[in-house]
Amino acid sequence: MAEPHAPSYYAATANAFRAQPPLVGSVAADVCVVGGGYTGLSAALSAAEAGYAVTLIEAHRIGWGASGRNGGQMIPGFRWSATDLVERFGQEAAQRLFTVANTARNRVHDRIARHNIACDLRHGHFTAACKPADFAAMERELECLDYLMGYDGAQLVRPEQTGGIVSAKGYHGGIYDSAGGHLHPLNYALGLAEAARAAGVRLHEGSPVVRVTGGDRPSVATAQGSVSARYVVLACDAFMGEIDADLGRYTMPVANYNIATQPLGEERARALIPSGAAISESRFVLNYYRLSADNRLIFGGGEKYTPRPPRDVAGFVRPYMEAAFPGVKGIGIDYAWGGLVGVTMNRLPHFGRKGNIFYAHGYSGHGVLLTTLAGELITEAMRGTAERFDLFASLPVKPFPGGPLLRHPLYVAGMLWYALRDRL
Ligand SMILES: Cc1cc2nc3c(=O)[nH]c(=O)nc-3n(C[C@H](O)[C@H](O)[C@H](O)COP(=O)(O)OP(=O)(O)OC[C@H]3O[C@@H](n4cnc5c(N)ncnc54)[C@H](O)[C@@H]3O)c2cc1C
Repeated sequence: MAEPHAPSYYAATANAFRAQPPLVGSVAADVCVVGGGYTGLSAALSAAEAGYAVTLIEAHRIGWGASGRNGGQMIPGFRWSATDLVERFGQEAAQRLFTVANTARNRVHDRIARHNIACDLRHGHFTAACKPADFAAMERELECLDYLMGYDGAQLVRPEQTGGIVSAKGYHGGIYDSAGGHLHPLNYALGLAEAARAAGVRLHEGSPVVRVTGGDRPSVATAQGSVSARYVVLACDAFMGEIDADLGRYTMPVANYNIATQPLGEERARALIPSGAAISESRFVLNYYRLSADNRLIFGGGEKYTPRPPRDVAGFVRPYMEAAFPGVKGIGIDYAWGGLVGVTMNRLPHFGRKGNIFYAHGYSGHGVLLTTLAGELITEAMRGTAERFDLFASLPVKPFPGGPLLRHPLYVAGMLWYALRDRL
């Protein structure tokens, strides 16, 4: 039996989901998915719907990775702004990327509606400008969204209007995106898993994959079993390096921490975030937060450059929350937890295939929406329509230089530089 979820607000409020048996013995499948987060679950579910016999193997529990621990922020698009996409790729390619990425939001909403997933879905996402220069960039971004992308979901919030969205001090306006939102991340993962199970996917928990073998008919092996399949999908995000050293060079696992306060009551909670939207900041090393369905403030923030977690996670995140909201100083913190974000060098996700092995990882903090799309694009590609998958696979993501030993110091140096820039 797989171990329980790491303690968090999400684990404490998870919907019931029956534990799945470990993989034992040798089995054959059309598709074998490794990893039971959103990417793997979405690939497995869509492949089963397409008629494939699918086995999904998860090392721990379904949703044990970032998908069960994240901030729940549904942020449309990539980590790059539309303006960045146009500058780097030109208008036409940027429009194509933007258009496909933008389908992610509706795919998640569609899954939630179709499978009746109770995951506290709420609407609206606000990116707060931390400096006047960031707001000026947002004005340009709005023009780009409007004129070049034909996107009308976003609106500029002027500095003096910010209080209507969020009461935290120190912001200089921002962008409100009505297509964004937030949800209970673990319950979304469990809902996808339940839908996958109902569609015929064989789910195995507590089954770490120890070996992946390529070829015409690739296979994966665990300590107690193996699966040979027509296609294998590697969906291990920040843990990818553990099963494929080459793919591991493309992401840096970065620890990030969250807290959930005690319930604040509706009035006090609404005074913090009157819009009820998910909030994240324009800073590189950012705070992000939202209200839970039971009116707690769920807050992620802080900078941590060593792989070791802080001894007191709540004590580590609390100062960032209290700086944003002095009114909650001293409030009880009921839950504190952390997880690993798979970050690529340039913050764009890394998609691709090696023969019949597909992979998608490195969403760089923007995976709540993009992962459902990723899984569905992998199934599309397996079925022979790879145009959209190939578009994402063409994103210019490079490996971190220097292998695992140099990767971390280089990353730390980079993060410190950006953290310094945030303060200028
Ligand atoms: C603290 C935190 C906050 C975040 N906040 C946000 C946010 O607010 N908005 C947003 O868009 N994104 C956010 N993210 C990022 C987002 O959660 C991820 O991009 C997304 O969940 C990745 O999903 P995934 O399925 O690709 O990977 P995961 O959910 O990490 O799933 C990978 C799975 O693979 C399994 N696995 C690993 N190795 C093996 C193996 N050898 N054999 C079998 N299984 C294996 C793991 O146990 C895990 O369950 C956050 C991430 C973290 C950690």
